[in-house]
Amino acid sequence: MMDVELSEEQREIQALARELADTEIAPHASAWDRDHHFPRQLFARLGELGLMGVCIPEAYGGAGADFFSYVLVLEELSRADAGVGVTVAVHTSAATLPILAFGTEEQKARFVPALACGDAIGAFALTESGSGSDAGALRTTAAPQGDGWTISGAKQWITNGSHATTFVLFARTASEEAGARGISAFILDADDLQVTREEEKLGLNSSSTADLLIDNAPVGRDRLLHMEGKGFAVAMSTLDGGRIGIAAQAVGIAQAAYDVARNYALERQQFGKRIAEFQAIQWKLADMSTEIDAARLLVYQTARPPAYRGGRQGETLRLVGCASPDSRGDPDSWRLRVHQGVSPGALLPRREDHRDLRRDERDSAPRYRARLARASLTVDLTQHLRCVLAELRCRPTRAERGSVDAYRLSDMALCRAIAGHVDDLTSVAHLRIIGDFVKCANRPERNIGPIQH
Ligand SMILES: Cc1cc2nc3c(=O)[nH]c(=O)nc-3n(C[C@H](O)[C@H](O)[C@H](O)COP(=O)(O)OP(=O)(O)OC[C@H]3O[C@@H](n4cnc5c(N)ncnc54)[C@H](O)[C@@H]3O)c2cc1C
Repeated sequence: MMDVELSEEQREIQALARELADTEIAPHASAWDRDHHFPRQLFARLGELGLMGVCIPEAYGGAGADFFSYVLVLEELSRADAGVGVTVAVHTSAATLPILAFGTEEQKARFVPALACGDAIGAFALTESGSGSDAGALRTTAAPQGDGWTISGAKQWITNGSHATTFVLFARTASEEAGARGISAFILDADDLQVTREEEKLGLNSSSTADLLIDNAPVGRDRLLHMEGKGFAVAMSTLDGGRIGIAAQAVGIAQAAYDVARNYALERQQFGKRIAEFQAIQWKLADMSTEIDAARLLVYQTARPPAYRGGRQGETLRLVGCASPDSRGDPDSWRLRVHQGVSPGALLPRREDHRDLRRDERDSAPRYRARLARASLTVDLTQHLRCVLAELRCRPTRAERGSVDAYRLSDMALCRAIAGHVDDLTSVAHLRIIGDFVKCANRPERNIGPIQH
């Protein structure tokens, strides 16, 4: 696995999450998946250890670590059970962080400490039956009443919906003609709404995904999050951060799939040899590992502060969305090939990984790819990708310390990921650029220099 430089604190947090994932999550993951069990007690335990509020400031009851540490935690939890990963991701980045970012001091003091320590579980209620990608078309209404509003409507597919106590919920405070500008964000309690259905999912079965009914719930002005009519901005900025978490989850799941495939290849004997000794199997494992490292590198790159100077974060996030192993689907498919005959049956170890990766495809693929494709025609995507490599190149310590292979592997993995996408997306001209990127990646000097088209 690629060696990425982490601070001591980040390493400690990663080790804590990994140990907990190995000892208290992984042994139960298959049973939770089979029984569709939401492990509420686990989240209290994660809260005790500070993992329900890793990146929440200590002043609000969190662990006070950085966003990158939180992403490392999500990767480790998802490696053991992706359902646990998505529960913590939505709780943290889609419920706690927007209250912290957009709430008044009174709202932050009132809601964040209970969320940060895991006493409360958070949810984010945006999607409705008629508004998914087109979130600005939502129809839940918040009609003025007294000094506040009465909220009515229905939400669909809300993670943590059946177990959450605090909901960041989006409703229309102006007519539908106002579109996204007529949406406001509110903080609701579980008492304000009813769970009408628990979704039957293909994967992530230890997480809850529920439909909600909000039936004339009265809310005071103290429940308005950010300004009236500015809820869509709250939702979009929340989802931007959330995408990094979803990509980290995908990396964790892919890593788990790889680990299982590798161990199987080392154990399984055919023709008097372990199948890991056959070159065809070695290639599959090498390709899986390279793809995972490429995706991990992009996720870390985006989670690190500041990923890019100059406000290209949106494109970076889309790139992460496209490059995460979920959307390419490859590591898991290869893993199934390594397992061959046992794949379809109950014998397949960690078969939930296969479904969970398929589920993670929902968010990333076609829309981001389409936007990246457009961006590559109108914006300087080359420059954007060059930033990624420039950043890598500005970190010479690995090469100086002798891990040249790891350093090269990271570059190579990134180039492969980029090549894969540009290949999918655009033109021959871009492929030539990629050729130069590959050459650049092997050049010893740090300054990449001009790239010829
Ligand atoms: C397990 C799970 C958990 C979820 N948790 C939450 C949650 O906690 N809170 C919440 O609010 N929502 C949640 N959702 C909903 C999720 O965010 C939506 O599924 C998502 O926004 C996509 O909406 P949709 O499924 O209605 O797809 P649609 O919008 O109907 O899209 C269908 C397909 O068309 C493509 N498409 C749509 N528009 C375009 C376009 N302009 N160009 C190209 N392609 C396009 C999409 O990429 C997709 O492939 C969850 C969903 C799932 C499956």
